[in-house]
Amino acid sequence: MHNCVVLGGGAAGMMAAIAAAEAGAKVTLIEKNEKLGKKVYITGKGRCNVTNDCDADTFFANVVSNRKFLYSAFYSFDNNMLMELVKDNGCPLKTERGGRVFPVSDHSSDVLKALNKAIKDAGVEVLLNHEAKDVVVEEAEGIKRVKGLLLKNGKTLPCDSLIMATGGLSYPSTGSTGDGHRILKKLGHSITEMHPGLVPFNVEESVCGELQGLALKNVSLKMYNSSEEQGKKKKPVYDGFGEMLFTHFGISGPLVLSCSEFYDASGGAKKDILIDLKPALDTDTLDKRILRDFDENKNKSFKNSISGLLPSRMIPLIISMCGIDPDKAVNEISREERTGLVHLLKNFPLTVTGTRDYNEAIITRGGVSVKEVDPSTMESKLIDGLYICGEMLDLDAMTGGFNLQIAWSTGHLAGSSVMEKERL
Ligand SMILES: Cc1cc2nc3c(=O)[nH]c(=O)nc-3n(C[C@H](O)[C@H](O)[C@H](O)COP(=O)(O)OP(=O)(O)OC[C@H]3O[C@@H](n4cnc5c(N)ncnc54)[C@H](O)[C@@H]3O)c2cc1C
Repeated sequence: MHNCVVLGGGAAGMMAAIAAAEAGAKVTLIEKNEKLGKKVYITGKGRCNVTNDCDADTFFANVVSNRKFLYSAFYSFDNNMLMELVKDNGCPLKTERGGRVFPVSDHSSDVLKALNKAIKDAGVEVLLNHEAKDVVVEEAEGIKRVKGLLLKNGKTLPCDSLIMATGGLSYPSTGSTGDGHRILKKLGHSITEMHPGLVPFNVEESVCGELQGLALKNVSLKMYNSSEEQGKKKKPVYDGFGEMLFTHFGISGPLVLSCSEFYDASGGAKKDILIDLKPALDTDTLDKRILRDFDENKNKSFKNSISGLLPSRMIPLIISMCGIDPDKAVNEISREERTGLVHLLKNFPLTVTGTRDYNEAIITRGGVSVKEVDPSTMESKLIDGLYICGEMLDLDAMTGGFNLQIAWSTGHLAGSSVMEKERL
């Protein structure tokens, strides 16, 4: 019987184990933690945004790196198939705003229960508290072939195929500590540069600390590679709309996490960000709106006339930044001063100095180069019988359930492929 070892009991490894066992392999799933799916447990703030209920085009549009590599994986096990599998194993699902799919119970533990049931029903042997140290590879006539998995306790598990699913580097407390990358690098695989992804930003300006805790809804945010580009009206590297949050170190929130997917420190860590605090109003309309406010507050000072425009905590800051005397009567404010105020509200500037680290990053960008992995099977092009799936690959996507879907799809394809060669 074909002996398949799956290394890593996260989303990708659990799915790979189920698929390999269903394909007819004898499967052993190895996990160093005391339970499976520690990361799945904390996903979606404990609710697990298990996938996105979207069409294929939308799925691929949300994949940021190497989307073409995912075609076979997604079409062979897509979001609908995943939802069926989870529901069939006792966890009903619901779809929320933006197609985000969650368990009806809002408990990620119910998704894990369903996966554990599927693993048990498929006859997978699970070895918890087992840490892998290395992969045993044999070379004959120039062809490398996987032979087994060496565990930290000194034992070797022989295998006909090995599926590696050790995850990325983010939230290392869940077990994703880069072991798989180190092992594969030693075996000759290229690992592209890895960075924290879907992660908050550190910001130079101290205003963020002053505004700590303030959430801005319905703002738009543009990120430029440098001020020079901004001046030359070059296209921003990111232009999005949504909600952000000021923190003691800088900025966070869904809009910022999405923006971080396009942060590239290679040309310099500092990036310019412009926040449009009033994206629904174009410059002229905003100017008219301010004029109207000033008209209604004719006898008031500037500082007492803009309360309708902004969250109260931002008002002192905007007043000091726009250069208008806070005690000036609004009917004395010049057109030029008003233009400056409008410009500031539509271009509130911040300077990103870098991202937060892996402890705060939802995903890892970069990883095992997809050029060395067969997209139709997930098998390594360098070592026969070795399959690689999930976040350890150089694949990443936006928030919304897309990253877990990458893990489910690539894991399932790896698992269902291990028996293919036996059939040839
Ligand atoms: C806070 C947070 C929230 C998230 N929320 C969502 C969400 O709602 N929706 C979404 O789509 N994505 C979400 N993600 C991303 C998603 O969780 C990951 O992309 C996905 O879990 C990756 O799965 P994986 O199986 O590839 O890796 P992992 O889940 O990291 O699994 C790897 C496993 O391998 C094990 N392992 C590693 N090395 C060894 C070794 N040497 N020996 C034995 N075992 C080993 C680890 O212990 C771990 O269990 C979130 C991530 C985080 C951090």
